[in-house]
Amino acid sequence: MHHDILIIGAGMAGLSCALHLAAAGLAPALIDKGRGPGGRMAARRVAIGGADVSFDHGAQYFTARDPAFAAAVAAWQEAGAASPWPEAGEEAFVGTPGMNGPLKVMASGLAVRWGVRALTLTQAGDLWRIATDAGDITARTVLVAVPAEQAADLLRDAAPDLAASPASIQSAPCWAVLAAFHAALPLSQAAIRGDGDAAISWAARNASKPDRGGAETWVIHASPTRSRALLDLPKDEVAAILLDDFWSASGLASLPPTLHLDAHRWLYALPQVAKGGGPARFDPALRLGIAGDYLHSPRVEGAWLSGRALAETLLAA
Ligand SMILES: Cc1cc2nc3c(=O)[nH]c(=O)nc-3n(C[C@H](O)[C@H](O)[C@H](O)COP(=O)(O)OP(=O)(O)OC[C@H]3O[C@@H](n4cnc5c(N)ncnc54)[C@H](O)[C@@H]3O)c2cc1C
Repeated sequence: MHHDILIIGAGMAGLSCALHLAAAGLAPALIDKGRGPGGRMAARRVAIGGADVSFDHGAQYFTARDPAFAAAVAAWQEAGAASPWPEAGEEAFVGTPGMNGPLKVMASGLAVRWGVRALTLTQAGDLWRIATDAGDITARTVLVAVPAEQAADLLRDAAPDLAASPASIQSAPCWAVLAAFHAALPLSQAAIRGDGDAAISWAARNASKPDRGGAETWVIHASPTRSRALLDLPKDEVAAILLDDFWSASGLASLPPTLHLDAHRWLYALPQVAKGGGPARFDPALRLGIAGDYLHSPRVEGAWLSGRALAETLLAA
C-alpha cells in the first residue's frame, strides 16, 4: 500500500493535522492502533443493568482559549459532538455523547485505518517504509502524531535529530478508575480536585456530563505519585485501592456497593512540554514530521494546535 502522506496516530493532533492538510487540497491517509477514535480522549461503553453507559476514562473536559480552536469547538457543538459542562467551570466543554465525539466527527471524512499499529520506520530510496502489524506501507511523507515516548521509539533509528525532543519527555502515568454505584452518592459537587499531595487528583460524576446515561457513574484519577506507586499492580487490585482513596477524599461516611468497577492504566497520560522548537517539527529533507500535545501543552487544545502547526509547516515547505 502506498500513500503520498501518511499520518501515524489519529488522536486529536493527527486528526487536526489531517483536516488542515485536507482543507488545503491534500489527501493524507491515517493509521491508528486503536479500534476507533479516542486516543487519550477515549470513551468506554459498558452495559450496566441492561443500559448502555459511557465513561470518559482519559481527558475529562477541555477549554478553548485560542480563537481558531474555539471556532472548531463551536462547529463540534453545531454537529452535536460537544457541549459545555459547567460542573468543571464556566469555560469547560466535553465531547458528546462521549469524550471522543469531536474525534468521530473529525475522522468521518478522512481515510483512517483503525486497528493498525506502526512498528518501524525505514528509508527506502526517496520513500519511507512503515512496517505495521497489518503489512508494509510506503509513503513519501510521514507525520508522527503519537505520545512522546512512542514517537521517540518509532523515530530513534530513522531520524535521531527529530527523535531528540520526544526522547527528552517523560510523561506522568495515570491510573483511572471507572465506577458505577447502586445509589447516588450524597455529594453536592460533581467534581473533586485533589491538591499536589493527594492520592486522588480528580474524581467526577461522569453521569453529570450530557448524554452519558442515567447510572451513577464516577471516573477517578490517581495523582502521578500514586499512579507510579501502583504502576505494576493488577488492575482489579488498583481499582479497590483507589476506590478506598476516593472514599477518603469524598468525606462520605460510607460508599454504596459498586455495580461496576474497573481500572485503566494510562502509561503516558500527561507529558511535560518539549523545550524550544515550536509547536510542531517538520524536516523537509527527510519529509518527516511530528506533532502532539508534548510540543505545545498537555491538553486537548494543545494537541489540536500542534496538529494544525504541523500542517502549516508542511504546506509552507
Ligand atoms: C487521564 C488523562 C486525563 C486528561 N485530562 C485532560 C483534561 O481534563 N483536559 C485536557 O485538555 N486534556 C487532558 N488530557 C490530555 C489530553 O487527552 C491529551 O493532551 C490529548 O488528547 C493528546 O492528543 P494527541 O493526539 O497528542 O495524543 P493521543 O490522544 O495519545 O493520540 C495518539 C494516537 O496515536 C495512536 N498510536 C500510538 N502509537 C501508535 C502506533 N505505533 N501506531 C499507530 N497508532 C498509534 C493512539 O492509539 C492514539 O489514538 C488527559 C489525558 C489523560 C490520559
